[in-house]
Amino acid sequence: MALKYIEEYRDATLARDLIKKIHGVSKRKLRLMEVCGTHTMSIFKHGIRSVIPEGITLLSGPGCPVCVTAQKDIDAFVEFARVKNVIVTTFGDLMKVPGSSSTLAKEKASGADVRIVYSVFDAINIAKDNIDKEVVFCAVGFETTIPTIAASILMGIEAKIDNFSIYSANKLTPPALAALMVTKGVEIDGFILPGHVSVITGTNAYRDTFEKYDVPSVISGFEPIDILKAILLLIEQNEIGKPALENAYPRAVSDQGNVKAQQIMNQVFEVCNAFWRGIGEIPLSGMGLKKEYQVFDAAIKFGMDMPEVPEPKGCACGEILMGLKTPEQCALYKKKCTPMTPVGPCMVSTEGSCAAFYRYS
Ligand code: SF4
Repeated sequence: MALKYIEEYRDATLARDLIKKIHGVSKRKLRLMEVCGTHTMSIFKHGIRSVIPEGITLLSGPGCPVCVTAQKDIDAFVEFARVKNVIVTTFGDLMKVPGSSSTLAKEKASGADVRIVYSVFDAINIAKDNIDKEVVFCAVGFETTIPTIAASILMGIEAKIDNFSIYSANKLTPPALAALMVTKGVEIDGFILPGHVSVITGTNAYRDTFEKYDVPSVISGFEPIDILKAILLLIEQNEIGKPALENAYPRAVSDQGNVKAQQIMNQVFEVCNAFWRGIGEIPLSGMGLKKEYQVFDAAIKFGMDMPEVPEPKGCACGEILMGLKTPEQCALYKKKCTPMTPVGPCMVSTEGSCAAFYRYS
């Protein structure tokens, strides 16, 4: 199936054909996890859950960057907003995520200088225009955004900017998948691997995890045909008992990935341990600034080291991110927790599982 244009990836005839094949090969119950928040949204938006066999359960994994950000990192963002002469710059999704005592939105309403940016480069420009203030960028993202943040640091050096820093809560995808595979109670029969992340990492980035855990894994794009095809491949792999690592998004993903982006990322950042909401600390799953770039590290610059704190009482975001619960199994869902009154990040983020359930189910 070689398709050239985006409309073809939404073609109803092709979709019907794939759905028929899926029903034809599906013989038993399977739990498939879509790792990326954009997949979660696309699956809901295109009604994919309603056209696949009942025995196929789709779980949302740890692929929404805001959702996996640990409570202590959210608290740090709020704390930066309270520091005199600091401008906090952030993507919009973080504004309403509840920290232990406040949100960035509430701090802004109380007078703090918190600005929504669409790219880290906007934050650099804000720093250039406000040389009497410190600008902190809340760096929350995966392999997709880390190279851009690295490029902004290099740009800051070139422009001799010394009032810009980042708080890195950046994370890497493959270590999270490996952590899930050894977490008690987690049952996953296949991963729908994230397309955007894979554009940067390439297929090879998953090879170690795949070889160690032998779990069916398919890289997928975001159109309905892409996702249905990935589901079909995962079911086929399970049914014939031959797990494989397949790239079903070859129009964007290569084996090596974007080598230039990887080089920039690895020039500025190094692998470190990181805290994930619900999962806890995963060794070598984060990206911290290398020693020579730590002058741009907001945590060091401001001595910011917030304690790890539990998730909001009753919130099941952590279990949802591990595929242990669905949003509907959270006692607060649609009661105390709604998009207008979110308790956890999974209800705040546009890519969050709870927000997707609320909007589409
Ligand atoms: S519904 Fe709200 S409280 Fe429950 S898991 Fe989702 S975000 Fe957390």
